[in-house]
Amino acid sequence: MNSLEPDPGAGPVESSGQSNFVRDIIIEDINAGKHEGRVQTRFPPEPNGYLHIGHAKAIYIDFELAAEFGGKCNLRFDDTNPSKEETQYVDSIMEDIRWLGYEWDGLFYASDYFGQLYEWAVQLTKAGKAYVCDLSADEIRAYRGTLTEPGRESPYRNRSIEENLDLFERMKNGEFPDGSRTLRAKIDMASPNLNMRDPVMYRILHMEHHRTGDQWCIYPMYDYAHGQSDSIEKVTHSICTLEFEDHRPLYNWFIENLGIFPSRQIEFNRLNLTYTLLSKRRLLTLVREGHVKGWDDPRMPTLSGLRRRGYTPEAIRNLCANAGVSKTNNIMQLSLLEYFLREDLNKCAPRVMAVLRPLRVVIDNYPDDTVEEVEAVNNPEDERCGTRRVPFSKVLYIEQDDFREDPPRKYYRLAPGREVRLRYGYFITCKDFVKDADGRVVELHCTYDPATRGGNAPDGRKVKSTIHWVSAAHAVDCEVLLYDNLFTKENPNEVEEGQDFTANLNPNSLEILRGCKVEPGLQTAAVGALYQFERMGYFCVDRDSTPEKLVFNRTIGLRDTWARIEQRDKR
Ligand code: ATP
Ligand code: MG
Repeated sequence: MNSLEPDPGAGPVESSGQSNFVRDIIIEDINAGKHEGRVQTRFPPEPNGYLHIGHAKAIYIDFELAAEFGGKCNLRFDDTNPSKEETQYVDSIMEDIRWLGYEWDGLFYASDYFGQLYEWAVQLTKAGKAYVCDLSADEIRAYRGTLTEPGRESPYRNRSIEENLDLFERMKNGEFPDGSRTLRAKIDMASPNLNMRDPVMYRILHMEHHRTGDQWCIYPMYDYAHGQSDSIEKVTHSICTLEFEDHRPLYNWFIENLGIFPSRQIEFNRLNLTYTLLSKRRLLTLVREGHVKGWDDPRMPTLSGLRRRGYTPEAIRNLCANAGVSKTNNIMQLSLLEYFLREDLNKCAPRVMAVLRPLRVVIDNYPDDTVEEVEAVNNPEDERCGTRRVPFSKVLYIEQDDFREDPPRKYYRLAPGREVRLRYGYFITCKDFVKDADGRVVELHCTYDPATRGGNAPDGRKVKSTIHWVSAAHAVDCEVLLYDNLFTKENPNEVEEGQDFTANLNPNSLEILRGCKVEPGLQTAAVGALYQFERMGYFCVDRDSTPEKLVFNRTIGLRDTWARIEQRDKR
């Protein structure tokens, strides 16, 4: 990362590296001498669900920009809505941010500021800029007007300051039932911006808060709490997503009318991905209705789901770096995320051999009781990873897919009479095969050429294919979970009348393979460990895996050349 610390003696700071408009604004502010060149951001999640990959983009921007300018980034929980917030969400959010590779400077909660926010509300009421309103939520909505029609003033708008102060205090003291009254800012019912039409600042809610318990029965609305919390923390740049653009005038109104620290709100475009839903509310529906096994189901776009699936923080950060920061919402291809994942895993994942759909192979001319150890390379991308020894013997497993009784054109793997190379082993030739009662091939009989040990024939003859294998007597059994996209449509929100997004769920998003065979060295693989199963893709040890019952998740496939050839030939 290129560092760009402000140095007042060194002349104006210039934009360097990947430029974007948020950076440009920060650089402008530094050069204008605002806040003595100090930069402070914050990441402000509401603890009402698990973080998803969209949040990763916000985290990336908030933390990276602060770091780039030698500033700070706080974590602040925007916990102003007790009906949806829980401590389990707070814990998972902290875990996920750390996993992505970031550490916050200060840890804050909007609920820490309830006392200060209340005092400021009293201050605005005393100044005649806020009033207690007895309209119901529905009435407030009806009075608000529309984009084309101005709103109507509430009949309670012109209460005296004394009456407002008295009623607001009694609201706080719990004298009124939920929903009976609100405190509203007195701004402009004819404003073209609906958010400025006397927005609600406080509502009555007799409900336990996950941190303040039953201390409060009035809670501040997002718009009243957010900017003031930024201001209390002296956040210089409050970076958020585009849907808050229309809220900026209100954000500024509160700050100006209270005369407090002027945090500056800047909005950027959300991250959207094809075949993916990024909305905590929708993800909660998937969990509650049992479409997935939980927030960290490996098909979920939550950071905990991606982590369990085997995604690396590096791959996610690379996506965020490439997502672009702009003022227009767009949709990124899921395949781009997959590209960054493969790129990272190719560098770091040790290679092993694993057979997902086993087919027994007997090498008829190999000695019965001999076990050889072949030397296998752990990672061709990284010599330092060294080699390992893999047992080889008379009976092996190969993939069912690596044998065809009637091989199609351009299929170069095993078939009757055909010779192939066993990875790190010998050339073998298929002599015969055995079928079960249903006509499925269940066993191959082959011969091997002892002179080809290590994979080359001294006479220089070539084979067109190398296949992987595991020794039957040494293999470890495991379960492998194959995942596909959770949704069948690029845009899962696109539905027919009367349907909701769950209509686009992919019924085949999970396939469970049992009786898979892996190299003996994997018996003790740690939860979360990532491997490349040669020729099959990248896999990681699932959270629920034990040495007695090994479970792997397929993180992502390799690009399968045979699948591509077959597709091309069909065209
Ligand atoms: P959701 O819409 O999924 O419920 P949210 O916006 O309600 O998310 P918050 O906890 O309020 O979730 O968000 C914390 C921060 O993350 C906010 O600054 C928000 O703008 C940002 N954020 C949320 N979703 C995305 C996204 N898809 N892309 C970029 N930033 C996002
Ligand atoms: Mg939100």
